[in-house]
Amino acid sequence: MQIALNDVLKDDGKILRVDADFGPDTFEMKLGKYPITRKTPVSLVLTNKGKRNLLIQGRMDLTILIPCGRCLEEVPVEFELDFEKKIDMNLTEEERREALDECAYIHGYDLDVDELVYSEILVNWPLRVLCKEDCKGICSICGKNLNHGTCDCDHTDLDPRMAQIRDIFNKFKEV
Ligand SMILES: [Zn+2]
Ligand SMILES: [Zn+2]
Repeated sequence: MQIALNDVLKDDGKILRVDADFGPDTFEMKLGKYPITRKTPVSLVLTNKGKRNLLIQGRMDLTILIPCGRCLEEVPVEFELDFEKKIDMNLTEEERREALDECAYIHGYDLDVDELVYSEILVNWPLRVLCKEDCKGICSICGKNLNHGTCDCDHTDLDPRMAQIRDIFNKFKEV
């Protein structure tokens, strides 16, 4: 959703309150695509602070499904976004980009709400997601989720020296 800023920029001290929609139902980045299962409207307060300085305050809650770092099961992660941006509208789009390099959400006199929220989600993205602190992960051989029970894989095979010893025993058995 785009919000025209011309109006609020006309008069110093003017305040514009908007409940905007965040369009996407998935969050996409280099690492992958993540479903958004819940989102509130984006509550925005735009304040003309004078001399073409704009203050953008926003709040939004959303839930994104992110795979557990160990077992890959999707975990609903809550985001409570609460942000504040100061924009100097005296600068050209290019000058702003050089100064902050994160102002991709303002094009001319339009505020791109989707891009603004996108950058906020990215900033708040968790470093590590686990379904639970003691998640057992998946078996490296059969891929079974070990939180749901054990598997029959022989994990001693992972040690090559053990495998050699077993080979010797097996040869004796064959005789
Ligand atoms: Zn897990
Ligand atoms: Zn297994």
